[in-house]
Amino acid sequence: MFLYSLSWIAIFILSISYWFQIWKIHVHKEVRDISLTYNLLLAIGFGILGFTAYDERSLIFFVKQISTTIPVIIIVFQVIYHRDEHWKDTIGKKCEGCSKQLERRWKFCAHCGREAE
Ligand SMILES: [Zn+2]
Repeated sequence: MFLYSLSWIAIFILSISYWFQIWKIHVHKEVRDISLTYNLLLAIGFGILGFTAYDERSLIFFVKQISTTIPVIIIVFQVIYHRDEHWKDTIGKKCEGCSKQLERRWKFCAHCGREAE
C-alpha cells in the first residue's frame, strides 16, 4: 500500500516535471536547445504504451502514460510554434554584417560568420 501511494506520487512528479518545461518554453519562447525529435519520439513511445496500459487494464500505468503523453505533445507543438524565436537579450549586440542579434560570448556571428566586434 505504501509503495502504491508512492507510485501515484511518482506519477504526479513525472507529469509535473514536463509542465515545468512547458512553462519555461512559454516564458522564454526559446526552443533552440530543445530537440524536436527527442520529444516527438517520447510522445510516440508514451502514446503507444498508453494503449498497452489500457489493454492490460492497468489504471496506474494508464494514468502515467496519459499524464506524460499530453505534456510531451504540448512541448512538441511549442517547439514547432516557437522554432523561429530567439533570445530577446536587450543588452545584446547586433551583427554589423547581417544585423541579427549576437550573444555576448560569440566571437563570430552564427548567422553570417562575420567576426563580432
Ligand atoms: Zn551576422
